[in-house]
Amino acid sequence: MRLLLILCSMFCVFLYNECMAQILVETESFQDKGGWVVDHQAFEKIRSSYLMAHGMGRPVKDAETTIAVSDPGEYHVFVSTYNWTAPWFDGKGPGAFQVKFDDRTLPDTLGIKGTRWGWQYAGSVKLGNTVKIALHDLTGFNGRVDAIYLTKDKAAPTEDYGAFDKVRRVHNSESKVYNTKSADLVVIGGGVAGCATALTAARYGLDVVLVDNLPWLGGSNALGVKSCGLMYKNLYPNLGNITCQVIGADVSRKNDKEAYFERVNGTGYITAYTAVPSWTGIAEKVEESSLLKSLDNLTAEEYDERTKAEKNQNNNEYNRRKRSFVREELLRTAGVRIYQNIQVYKVETEGKHIQSVSGKDLRSGKEYSFSGAMFVDCTGDGTVGYLAGAEYMIGRESKEFAGEPTAPATSDNKKMGMSMHWYAYPRENSGTFPELSEIPWAMQCSDEYYVDGAGSNWQWETGLEYDNATEAELVRDNFLRAVYGNWSYLKNHVEKYKNYRLDYLQYIGMKRESRRIVGDIVLNENDIVGKIEYPDASFTTTWTMDLHYAQKKNAKYFPGWEWMTYCTNEEEIWVHQYHVPYRCLYSKDIDNLFIGGRNMSVTHQALGTVRVQSTLGMAGEVIGMAAVICDEHNVSPRDVYESYLGELKRMMTEGGPLK
Ligand SMILES: Cc1cc2nc3c(=O)[nH]c(=O)nc-3n(C[C@H](O)[C@H](O)[C@H](O)COP(=O)(O)OP(=O)(O)OC[C@H]3O[C@@H](n4cnc5c(N)ncnc54)[C@H](O)[C@@H]3O)c2cc1C
Repeated sequence: MRLLLILCSMFCVFLYNECMAQILVETESFQDKGGWVVDHQAFEKIRSSYLMAHGMGRPVKDAETTIAVSDPGEYHVFVSTYNWTAPWFDGKGPGAFQVKFDDRTLPDTLGIKGTRWGWQYAGSVKLGNTVKIALHDLTGFNGRVDAIYLTKDKAAPTEDYGAFDKVRRVHNSESKVYNTKSADLVVIGGGVAGCATALTAARYGLDVVLVDNLPWLGGSNALGVKSCGLMYKNLYPNLGNITCQVIGADVSRKNDKEAYFERVNGTGYITAYTAVPSWTGIAEKVEESSLLKSLDNLTAEEYDERTKAEKNQNNNEYNRRKRSFVREELLRTAGVRIYQNIQVYKVETEGKHIQSVSGKDLRSGKEYSFSGAMFVDCTGDGTVGYLAGAEYMIGRESKEFAGEPTAPATSDNKKMGMSMHWYAYPRENSGTFPELSEIPWAMQCSDEYYVDGAGSNWQWETGLEYDNATEAELVRDNFLRAVYGNWSYLKNHVEKYKNYRLDYLQYIGMKRESRRIVGDIVLNENDIVGKIEYPDASFTTTWTMDLHYAQKKNAKYFPGWEWMTYCTNEEEIWVHQYHVPYRCLYSKDIDNLFIGGRNMSVTHQALGTVRVQSTLGMAGEVIGMAAVICDEHNVSPRDVYESYLGELKRMMTEGGPLK
């Protein structure tokens, strides 16, 4: 009897599996993405990238893919999506789209409801052996789709996206983890800081892995931020060699003050940029790069339609990408193993030691593991330190923390925010843009409050009290609301913009501040103002304590969701030059973790000065050198300070190798 029962239940399981066929289609792997873009900024929420219809109010071309169906028949369709404006608006969302199966469009409009990512039922469809699936955008207002789940049973997948991740991987046949060869140094985050660190360490002969989640290396620099900070005022004048190469500046002018634009407050930037650095072989490869050729995907007519100013803007983007490509070539030539489009989201530790970090390929879903002797957190968000359990700080520290003169009495959540470039240009067929009453989810600007101008500048900034590490999608979306609302007002109510069209709006946010990991020293305002000399003084910071806060008028109209800021650069503490101790560059808690870039060990106030790119690049060089010492003597980053400081000083004096 018992045997019979077991056999019966096995038969039922077999039947269940046979009947309940399921297919998961990840949108980021669609063969033709049409006008939809791949975005990763909801990764913290859904463990995946997704497709977004970023048409700036003009519906984008369908995304399409064809799949094989091993078990034809009637399927129910669930779509992972939501109304992205729900945090602010409880009506129908603007990101409306439909799903098509061959020539049949499912009747339900999706993307207009749901307060958070979830599975929405879209109807049922009869499938043959193959089917073409298309995402059909209806508005161009950022509708988004993570995945489509087809099932013969009408049961939606779990909305616990952490748990669903396992299901994803089984469906995508990606349950395998790709273990990369163990490295001497694993650098996570390929901004200026990460690139400078990786290039320095590799030039000294370390086996270096660099992991980044974007398709272009350089972080905010690759997204269009220019590099500031003086290098000719260095305590160690040869620091900066590698930073110049990473930012595309002429290294021979590094210590030539004529090559700088320097303000009276001591801040400035190198003007000796080289559009295409002429290292043998690299420049030629750049011209051939398919990445650059496919930059804009424009037809000849579309290109001709562009205004001169717009073509110049396009040229900027072209040069920026070109620099990213050169950067990549430099790193590869130095032997760095580069992994792009990979989001690191897991850290394996043993005690206070990191064994490996794991990340997901944002296009294929493949899981990679990177093991190594030492790690560098250059994510800007302090993600690696955070996941490893290192102490971190976020927001403003109180006066009590370090007695900083300009710190608030009590700690708070205020921090610098995220920005994205946008611009509008005049053109003959500039079309229309909805009135504010038609887009009630956008920032409701008015005669009383709007921002005049056909493009962004640094003041366009939001997410000033949000965690930019975990809420990147929300903060980015708030920025979209600001641009759309303000643009609606300008286009429809300000005469001079009536023939303009909103042509460009980034969708990947450029962040200024997230978590900062705590090192053996937390640099603070008193160190800088009092010019405290530490024995391990290393790279030099010259920028002022340039912090950003919400403009009062903007805060009055959009409390909690401000999007215009002012900076303290002009009014406050001038730094001129300060030499930052090496002990800010490694975690106090994790014995093989360096912390570079904007997540190094500084207070909110002190971040205001060290955060500019040339300064962070030089800090990266110091980390690269310290890693070489760790490797040579088999010691920890802290031991470099305690036992090998002389060696580090010698290396900083010599400067990083240019080849
Ligand atoms: C709008 C704006 C204007 C600014 N203006 C100036 C200026 O004029 N001059 C100046 O010098 N500085 C300026 N700054 C500051 C400066 O650009 C930044 O502080 C600096 O670029 C930070 O460099 P970073 O390498 O530390 O971080 P980032 O440039 O933020 O790079 C971090 C990299 O890590 C990647 N990453 C993050 N998390 C993960 C993960 N989990 N897995 C894999 N990869 C990950 C990111 O995508 C990125 O590529 C500005 C900043 C902003 C946002």
